[in-house]
Amino acid sequence: MASIFSKIIEGSIPSVKIDETENEIAFLDIMPCAEGHTLIVPKKEVERFEDMDPQDTASLMVFLHRIAKAVSSAFGGVDYNVILNNGVQAGQEVMHVHYHIIPRTERSSRMFGNRKNASTEELQKTAEQIRKFLN
Ligand code: 5GP
Repeated sequence: MASIFSKIIEGSIPSVKIDETENEIAFLDIMPCAEGHTLIVPKKEVERFEDMDPQDTASLMVFLHRIAKAVSSAFGGVDYNVILNNGVQAGQEVMHVHYHIIPRTERSSRMFGNRKNASTEELQKTAEQIRKFLN
């Protein structure tokens, strides 16, 4: 079944659109974390980021960069987070790859709250594990 974002892309569900290209669309989140909360969505429906065609990710990043600049400028150069929730455990609810651009001010809740220092040894082990899967 088509994702809710595919339905927005084809126009069968309305959205408040910012801009679109042949490959991507940007529209405002219906339940914004902050004014200007924008979603950046590739038109090709893929569930997970790593399953996207690498060329499509490059195009998506160029589009994201352009829209992020406009969102920030629209609110006086506001700071913002760029977030991609990839998979259910990461908070993904719509199973169609998308980035969030979320404006942040002094009053915004902080992300990365639950952290502790790691030893270099632990970090080396983790990096080694990740490098095994590079291709
Ligand atoms: P996720 O948790 O998957 O990263 O984020 C999905 C986002 O899509 C949520 O922030 C949610 O508010 C937004 N969303 C879900 N359905 C709709 C919709 O029909 N229209 C718009 N504009 N946003 C939606």
